[in-house]
Amino acid sequence: MPESEWDVAVVGLGAMGSHTLWRLAARGARVIGIEQFEPGHDRGASHGESRIFRTAYMEGSAYVPLMRAARALWAQLEVETGASIVIPTGCLSIGPPGSRLVAGAAEAAAEHGLPHSLLTPAQLAERWPQHAGLPPDAVALYEPDAGVLRPELAVRSAVSAAIARGATVLSGTHVESVGDGVVRLADREITARHVVVAAGGWSLSLLPRLGVPLRPVRRVQGWFTAPPSYGPEQFPVFLRETGDTVWYGLPALDGRTAKVAVHHAPGLNEPVDPSVGPRPPDALDADRLAELIRPGLPGLDPAPVRMLPCTYSLTPDENFAIGRYADHTTALAGFSGHGFKFAPRIGEIAADLALTGATPADLTLFAPHRRG
Ligand SMILES: Cc1cc2nc3c(=O)[nH]c(=O)nc-3n(C[C@H](O)[C@H](O)[C@H](O)COP(=O)(O)OP(=O)(O)OC[C@H]3O[C@@H](n4cnc5c(N)ncnc54)[C@H](O)[C@@H]3O)c2cc1C
Repeated sequence: MPESEWDVAVVGLGAMGSHTLWRLAARGARVIGIEQFEPGHDRGASHGESRIFRTAYMEGSAYVPLMRAARALWAQLEVETGASIVIPTGCLSIGPPGSRLVAGAAEAAAEHGLPHSLLTPAQLAERWPQHAGLPPDAVALYEPDAGVLRPELAVRSAVSAAIARGATVLSGTHVESVGDGVVRLADREITARHVVVAAGGWSLSLLPRLGVPLRPVRRVQGWFTAPPSYGPEQFPVFLRETGDTVWYGLPALDGRTAKVAVHHAPGLNEPVDPSVGPRPPDALDADRLAELIRPGLPGLDPAPVRMLPCTYSLTPDENFAIGRYADHTTALAGFSGHGFKFAPRIGEIAADLALTGATPADLTLFAPHRRG
């Protein structure tokens, strides 16, 4: 292979690429990041003011070590940049006792000794009367170490921290294809010893042979006028299972509007063509959210002040796709609507893989060439 211009090229500077760039620059690598828009833009998966950071991980206790390592790196990014990216609020997971939401979180909390408590609907009503309309057998798991992350600020901070450590960034630059240490732009090629592709919903255009089927699907986030009791000091982030719907919400960070969105529900996975982007929100999206808010959070005005679309990149099992894609290429894809909280740890793992070909992290769940 001829001499490469860069040790590593990172394609895509959303949550995963920006943090990979930062962790590579922190190790002194010669690194370039290439982004088709501007870091912190609103056309991918890493926008909309807030993301939930949970600790008792219902998706599987194997995520807990990733979460712990990520938390330390979020704190490091805050120190390095002076930005306040994490807002502690605690988290409530509310649902039927046997649900994955509550039972899965309780299992992860017990296995890893994470602080948590279980509340009956009456105890929940006493402490957080914002939540209403719960069936008598519902359970709420409260985890105090959870909170809110600021996604746009996090992405921009990771990029500035990387630049401060010597990284180069090309914004507004579309990558046409990647292979064998060559990144092809419209008008030239960039060579690197290794390429990390972190292209979110666009991943399949750059990683067409990824084994895991990836589905970019539309989601809508809505903001609703809230009284002061929905501020970050009084109102923990939450996930709630109501019938066949898992929905979630975050406190009013602007002092006026709380965010509510649906995570999973039958018929929700409308496909997104990444070259076009998700369809703008409409009255049906507003109705779907209002139907949850009216009985569930009666203090909010159920008419949204604003709504924003966003794209989940779903794998069939909703575990991520992280690892070697081909010689000289690492894939970071399929973050399935729950990846943001792990971004700096995933960046660290990608830096391991790009620079040494191996990582001490357990990637068993995340093989990019697994089927299904
Ligand atoms: C509505 C919503 C709510 C969510 N809530 C949570 C939550 O509460 N907690 C949580 O942990 N996670 C959450 N997630 C998931 C989390 O936000 C995502 O997993 C994460 O942001 C994915 O980051 P990414 O870097 O993979 O993708 P993206 O942020 O989309 O980044 C991909 C980047 O690659 C760039 N790119 C793509 N193709 C090219 C190309 N050819 N050339 C150059 N650049 C390219 C894109 O422009 C983009 O900037 C949520 C996601 C959504 C959509």
